[in-house]
Amino acid sequence: MPGSDGSTALGRGVREALSGMRGAVREHVPLAPLTHLRIGGPADWFVEPSGEEDVALVVATCRELGLPLYLLGGGSNVVIADAGLRGVVMQLGSLGRIAREQHRVTVGAGVSLPSLLRATKEAGLAGLEVLTGIPAQVGGAVAMNAGTRDGETFDRLVSVTVVENDGRLAERGKDQLTPRYRDGGLGAAVVVQATFELTPDDPAAIFARFSASLKARNATQPVSQRSVGCVFRNPPGDKAGRLIEAAGCKTLQRGGLSVSARHANYLVNDDTGSAAEFRALLREVRDRVRARFGVALEPEVKFWGFDDPELPPGCLDFGRS
Ligand SMILES: Cc1cc2nc3c(=O)[nH]c(=O)nc-3n(C[C@H](O)[C@H](O)[C@H](O)COP(=O)(O)OP(=O)(O)OC[C@H]3O[C@@H](n4cnc5c(N)ncnc54)[C@H](O)[C@@H]3O)c2cc1C
Repeated sequence: MPGSDGSTALGRGVREALSGMRGAVREHVPLAPLTHLRIGGPADWFVEPSGEEDVALVVATCRELGLPLYLLGGGSNVVIADAGLRGVVMQLGSLGRIAREQHRVTVGAGVSLPSLLRATKEAGLAGLEVLTGIPAQVGGAVAMNAGTRDGETFDRLVSVTVVENDGRLAERGKDQLTPRYRDGGLGAAVVVQATFELTPDDPAAIFARFSASLKARNATQPVSQRSVGCVFRNPPGDKAGRLIEAAGCKTLQRGGLSVSARHANYLVNDDTGSAAEFRALLREVRDRVRARFGVALEPEVKFWGFDDPELPPGCLDFGRS
């Protein structure tokens, strides 16, 4: 029941449970500005823990109170429902440390990939430039095993520090993880830090590779428009973009969302689109490709807060260990 200040028992419980957390706790926070697509309603609760122990406290609290917990990285691969999210959204922007020991770099999950690439290039350490142009945070890049045709995040990964879904901090070596194409295989663990082994090289040579990748990307992808990057995984031996184009989807539009004329595996938002329109357009594209080629395209993008049995809920699964 709402108290005299409008607060609910659950709200008071959340505040009380998180009172020991260092960092920010806010209510009713709009999420659209925190996503690349600029779509989605508000979060009931939005938390930005200061350190790893604070992340652990948030995980343990949500598990204990039975609250859905969503982990938002750079927001470049999520579509958030128009009605927003019930529960807690956590972002790790405060975990922003970059430390170097010889050719190894240990990075906080909240560091943006472009900042990390800049730092390693300046330090004359090569290997991460295959990730040029991916607008992720390090935690999101590891969770998704983000990559390009030149390589992926796990190529140079040595280990990660995670908060398990029971709130324990743990170190996992690469050999204890089972990454797949666009999936780091971390289950319900929260990445708080990652270590990469890099190769010494001339900063000018690293910069040249970086620039070439960026140029190729700018020429073929709608980088200046609002999107989530490629919406479907490439099926084995083929390209989702090629199938979508060949199925005649390039002119499709639903409200403010349309299939990009530049790259058919991108759905772009003209700033007026909604999550419902994104979902409808994605369905239409998937159905047309299935009807024309018999291929069931699998979404790479994550949908959060949709009341739809076809879609996983997107929050951490406290049922798994
Ligand atoms: C213009 C554009 C271009 C893109 N190009 C590429 C590309 O070339 N290659 C590619 O692979 N992707 C690409 N993407 C998609 C996207 O950048 C990647 O999927 C990226 O890994 C998402 O990282 P993020 O930090 O933005 O995570 P979010 O989008 O915020 O979250 C994605 C998933 O990761 C989880 N997650 C986030 N942080 C953590 C954490 N600390 N611990 C555990 N789980 C976490 C979230 O819960 C969610 O399930 C592109 C996107 C855009 C908008």
